[in-house]
Amino acid sequence: MKIVMKFGGTSVATGKNIRRIAELIASHTRKGNKIVAVVSALDGVTEKLLEAAEQAEKGGKGFIPSFKQELLSRHLKVSEEAIKKASVRKEIQQITLATMDELEKVLTGIIYVGELTPRSRDYILSFGERLSTPIVYGALKDVGLDACFLTGSEAGIVTDSNFGEAAPLMNVTRLQVKERLEPLLAKGVTPVVTGFIAATQDGITTTLGRGGSDYTATIIGAALDAEEVWIWTDVDGLMTSDPKIVPNARTLPEISFKEALEMAVFGAKAMHPRALEPLMDGKTLVRIKNIFNPENPGTTLVREQKIKPGTTVKAVTLLRDVALINISGAGMIGAPGTAAKVFEVLGKSNINILMISQGASEANISLVVRRNVLEKAVNALEVALLGRGLISEITAEDDVFAVSVVGAGMKNTPGIASRLFTAVARKGINVRMIAQGSSELNISFVVKEADGEAAVQAVHEEFRLGED
Ligand code: ADP
Ligand code: ASP
Ligand code: MG
Repeated sequence: MKIVMKFGGTSVATGKNIRRIAELIASHTRKGNKIVAVVSALDGVTEKLLEAAEQAEKGGKGFIPSFKQELLSRHLKVSEEAIKKASVRKEIQQITLATMDELEKVLTGIIYVGELTPRSRDYILSFGERLSTPIVYGALKDVGLDACFLTGSEAGIVTDSNFGEAAPLMNVTRLQVKERLEPLLAKGVTPVVTGFIAATQDGITTTLGRGGSDYTATIIGAALDAEEVWIWTDVDGLMTSDPKIVPNARTLPEISFKEALEMAVFGAKAMHPRALEPLMDGKTLVRIKNIFNPENPGTTLVREQKIKPGTTVKAVTLLRDVALINISGAGMIGAPGTAAKVFEVLGKSNINILMISQGASEANISLVVRRNVLEKAVNALEVALLGRGLISEITAEDDVFAVSVVGAGMKNTPGIASRLFTAVARKGINVRMIAQGSSELNISFVVKEADGEAAVQAVHEEFRLGED
């Protein structure tokens, strides 16, 4: 069987974990499977790189030596633990040193130029995966596998130039990935590919958005027509909620693509929101599994939507980095096309609207966007809409979270919303806005940041999601 296995940040956080991964890949390979490994940066490294990039933009080289030392010693230590054979270890540590030197030069360059563009930010972020992947390759060699490592671009993934959130150009990607990886698999070589990073047709480094290694895995899975894609992470699968918020959250043995997509968009970090796109039309099965509990079957994602009678709400998620925008004005009453105008203005600025709702009075529209685009969104709306008689005020709140309740069984089942909001109100939580997707797969609402976790817990409890 051809399986693409993706290992997230926590799976490669320590040398011990990398060793565990290498043994796991080796055992699946020895059973006759052909594995492509996709690897994330060590846990927390992408975050550190982002901070360094922002510091470099502000100028001042002061932070570089300690930053470099910290990152270097972490990677050297991890390869020390992960790779036993001295010659292999030396080979990898040399790669680490050379990669770190290159990173230092790039950061110094940013300091001199004083400007961090989306393109240079992506280049800096690419170093996390460029540092982690060779270590996994070394560990595979160490356990006796024939392996090689490649960047996403070397593996054949080509994207558009939407830096920070690039999308694969699937036609070329499909051809190139097949052309480059299949001969390796045929020879019994295990390719280890950097997650998250790719390149444009001109070879400029891009990233697929935070958490994008999942996406890399499904792109490769689709290109190779792999039987399965396994997303290895630090929990047993997609769960009824984030176990860090709800300790009795339960693993969902099976969930549909559509439901998983809603969960991912609304905050279930276990899966990148776009990761299912490449696999929509194929036959590839997706599993989410726990690297610390590999015997557990995890979650299987299926294309068809089976609704077990009696099931309504399946999961509740929390999206943290959002903001609420309220647009109001008596001029909007009975004036058709206001919502369309809002969509148009934000669409032109490349801003994605996560939720939208309009009061029955038509005198206001509320929308939810990612917090990092709030300022841009409000500016665009003010410039386009204020002072034209339609809208009198635009206000924003950036201290809110969105709670989302997902389940295909909610469709056509009356009374879910009332149970939901009664449960939340019982905890004294004020709901700032409500929206229901037209698919009826999801109901989302906005609460103050401080109430977010309690709201999730209240919903989980009300629908007894922790019970089988
Ligand atoms: P990785 O480094 O493997 O990509 P992430 O941190 O991106 O891991 O995602 C895994 C984490 O997602 C889990 O540790 C868990 O806390 C969080 N999470 C949030 N919601 C869910 C959910 N519904 N099901 C499973 N995990 C979730
Ligand atoms: N390292 C990247 C991130 O932290 C990609 C990933 O982990 O999937 O976003
Ligand atoms: Mg992730």
